[in-house]
Amino acid sequence: MNAANAPAVDTHCPYCALQCGMGLRPVERGSGAPDGPGVTVVERTAFPVNRGALCGKGRTAAELLVSGARLTSPLVRDPATGELAPATWDEALDRVADGLRRAGAEHGRDAVGVFGGGGLTNEKAYALGKFARVVLGTSQIDYNGRFCMSSAAAAHARAFGLDRGLPFPLADVARTGCVILVGSNLAETMPPALRYLTELRENGGRLIVVDPRRTRTAEQADLHLAPRPGTDLALALGLLHLVVAEGRTDEEFIAARTDGWDEARAAAMAHWPEMVERITGIPVPDLRAAVRMFCDAESSMVLTARGPEQQAKGTDTVGAWINLCLATGRAGRELSGYGCLTGQGNGQGGREHGQKADQLPGYRKLDDPAARRHVAQVWDVDPDALPGPGRSAYELLDALGGEIRALLLMGSNPVVSAPRAAHVEERIRSLDFLAVADVVLSETAALADVVLPVAQWAEETGTTTNLEGRVLLRRRALDPPPGVRTDLEVLGALAARLGREKGFPADPEEVFDELRRASAGGPADYSGITYRRIAAEDGVFWPCPELPEEAGAHPGTPRLFLERFATPDGRARFVPVVHRPAAEEPDEAYPVLLTTGRVLAQYQSGAQTRRVAELNAAAPGPFVELHPHLAERLGIADGELVAVESRRGRAAAPARVTAAIRPDTVFMPFHWPGPGRANTLTNPALDPTSRMPEFKVCAVRLERAQQVERA
Ligand code: SF4
Repeated sequence: MNAANAPAVDTHCPYCALQCGMGLRPVERGSGAPDGPGVTVVERTAFPVNRGALCGKGRTAAELLVSGARLTSPLVRDPATGELAPATWDEALDRVADGLRRAGAEHGRDAVGVFGGGGLTNEKAYALGKFARVVLGTSQIDYNGRFCMSSAAAAHARAFGLDRGLPFPLADVARTGCVILVGSNLAETMPPALRYLTELRENGGRLIVVDPRRTRTAEQADLHLAPRPGTDLALALGLLHLVVAEGRTDEEFIAARTDGWDEARAAAMAHWPEMVERITGIPVPDLRAAVRMFCDAESSMVLTARGPEQQAKGTDTVGAWINLCLATGRAGRELSGYGCLTGQGNGQGGREHGQKADQLPGYRKLDDPAARRHVAQVWDVDPDALPGPGRSAYELLDALGGEIRALLLMGSNPVVSAPRAAHVEERIRSLDFLAVADVVLSETAALADVVLPVAQWAEETGTTTNLEGRVLLRRRALDPPPGVRTDLEVLGALAARLGREKGFPADPEEVFDELRRASAGGPADYSGITYRRIAAEDGVFWPCPELPEEAGAHPGTPRLFLERFATPDGRARFVPVVHRPAAEEPDEAYPVLLTTGRVLAQYQSGAQTRRVAELNAAAPGPFVELHPHLAERLGIADGELVAVESRRGRAAAPARVTAAIRPDTVFMPFHWPGPGRANTLTNPALDPTSRMPEFKVCAVRLERAQQVERA
């Protein structure tokens, strides 16, 4: 068959949690594109979430398959020269096994750490968690998803007994009556999802956007609330206060389906509107208007993202928005509820199957004896041999070179993406041994003793779980280049070298079948989901338990909580929360607030997207967004280099002067390394429940920078 007529392979984008459907069509070699990727991205309109639409990242995703930056040979650091040099796979794998083994033997099993990523498929996340606990016997495993949505996950589980990003399909957003979107710039992070908000408004629904910046998403809103960074908790409490004061609570729903209202109401009533106006900077009439829009609609939703979540009080902040939904009867009902817009490609599945420090597959708890017994039986090990919960992501990185002497890292680039990044980089440099599996030489991989080149999304099959809890199948469309192996092959080869010949297959479907058994009966039950079903149905929502043959197949669960919440008694829990300041408030020395985030053309640490020419041209480097009043006060002109300094370090980038941001706040995107690295500045203060760092707010000072800081 001519390649141009060959059917496209149905798959999904390698980047964000929307997991847009796309097709990959083979390109005939030697027919005008001899050096091309071998596939081209085509629309897949039948996939319901994005209906063919892709953002620039998805559209150009195939370019990285043939990027000159691609690693195609293992690299091993030469002790004589200190440089990374090509090596055979046997040499590299032997060196990794030796480095991990030696650290464990000399300093104890917990001296070996494992760090994963929210972009790994379910199969890889599962295999990585099993590898850490069964082969290495270490409790020290966590992943960068901790930085992404763990506060929402903790609040979700606390209130509803279960965490799934959206407990309803994204399409429901277009049909509800009012959406409060808190701390999300969908227009830049997930452009194809914006159409649900457009449809919402076309259908007569109202949109309220909460963001300290007037983003492209905020421009679509009926009401834009721009709180001071770090005050979303006070805002939610102020709205709940007004709901009570104006008699807009749903007492019938509260009595029938919830517990703990009296305490939560008392906590909210301490946040009277004028006080909330002083804390947040949002005028009382706007607070009242928001309550009217939210309560006048027959159904309403609150959707949160990184804004309220990446705070040292993120769990309570999300909890306050959930309380607002519960008090107004906007949860556990058709077209109403609370949801979290998960960020990373497999941020949802990655947190369900065991690469998180406190979890076992199926969203089971590592400290639950019954869960340990179940998973140990699937893994054919003694439950008592499984380690307990380990450190959270930042705490793990902070312990490198101290109690943790060796690290295996997959699918993450913490030198750019971790908070207080200069310190994290220094900790990574102090390790006895670092092995990194990646597709390119990321800033973290460049520090490794061994770098293992691994396959990309189009070169291997595997499942991801999108922000709706819909389990999807990415299919292999072409072979990896010679010299490259899959992550599952790497884990299998390392396990064999470390004495475990069996239990780590390279076939993703075999791994998924084991994952299904390990998840069976757990909160995130995948046991009724198979590759064949996903392919036939274009995704299956968990939980989806395997039913007896005579009962047929479980249909999956697109909508959660309609009959009951997932708590033992089926009732949702209000949690009383009160406002408190950010971990670091502005003062005389550091008088301005910094908030960080993303831009349209880059993804996460930029390790992939910075290497795609079109994306790099669209967003070539960092910038500091600041209000004209602040710029004038500091004598900084648009485009001039500005230095931003916090208690953790100094960064410099060109000024972008705009009235779309609060005068007391500056914004920096975090996708770049070097002098403009935003995370040099960010505060690693942790939420006490989720252990999520406070990326979204810290205190800084600004000045015109010396030209030399551009280097
Ligand atoms: Fe990929 Fe997300 Fe863009 Fe969709 S919105 S194409 S999943 S990066």
